[in-house]
Amino acid sequence: MYIELSDILSVKDKELDIQAYIEMQRFTSKSGDYEIVSKAPFNVHLKNTGKKRFKLDMETDVTLRMPCGRCLADVDYDLDIKVSREIDMNESGNDDEMEDLFYISNSELDVETFIYNEILVNLPMKVLCSENCKGICNRCGANLNLQLCNCDRTELDPRMSKIRDIFNNFKEV
Ligand SMILES: [Zn+2]
Ligand SMILES: [Zn+2]
Repeated sequence: MYIELSDILSVKDKELDIQAYIEMQRFTSKSGDYEIVSKAPFNVHLKNTGKKRFKLDMETDVTLRMPCGRCLADVDYDLDIKVSREIDMNESGNDDEMEDLFYISNSELDVETFIYNEILVNLPMKVLCSENCKGICNRCGANLNLQLCNCDRTELDPRMSKIRDIFNNFKEV
């Protein structure tokens, strides 16, 4: 959805509350493609702060289904998106600054693009199903939270692996 900004910008000190929502069912970016399992309409509060500037306040929760960084099990990750920002429309006329206001064009704020960007900047690098997640056996692929396997997973002493690397390098020559 789009929020028309000309109303708020034309009257000094004007405030406006708008019920907003997002349509996206999935969040797709370079870091992954995640289903949005929960979202809700939210309030956007706008206030004209003068000289083509306005304050935007909003808060909403979006839940993304992400894979556990160790065992790949589904983790429903709640993202609390909270924005309290002053937006200067004077910057939209300047090509260099245009990128900051990519979610605004023709005095309309694109809620979809705005929230997409907020998810992007708040997305964790990695989620875990539990702090104690044992992960997946790197030999047989068993989920070690659910079953044990008989693989030998003793890690090599790092000093030993250095020596082994040296031997391997000699072999290649
Ligand atoms: Zn896990
Ligand atoms: Zn195993």
